[in-house]
Amino acid sequence: MSPTVEICHCASCGTETRHVVVLVRKTSAFKNEQNGKFKEFISGVVKGWFLGAFVASMDEFSRHRICETCGEKVIEN
Ligand SMILES: [Zn+2]
Repeated sequence: MSPTVEICHCASCGTETRHVVVLVRKTSAFKNEQNGKFKEFISGVVKGWFLGAFVASMDEFSRHRICETCGEKVIEN
């Protein structure tokens, strides 16, 4: 099992890059937001992704798209 990867435009890189897509519980999103370290963020959201696989239809999860090149994160509600 691995997180979903999408190729899409990154506003920060200014080009199309690979993005990791993960589901994150909205209640924990703000806590992750304050942590600027990309790798720590990834390790945190991977747990959320496994949980998200079980309850992907629940509204309390938001979709995070993270650029693999620069770490720019886009949150889709
Ligand atoms: Zn980028």
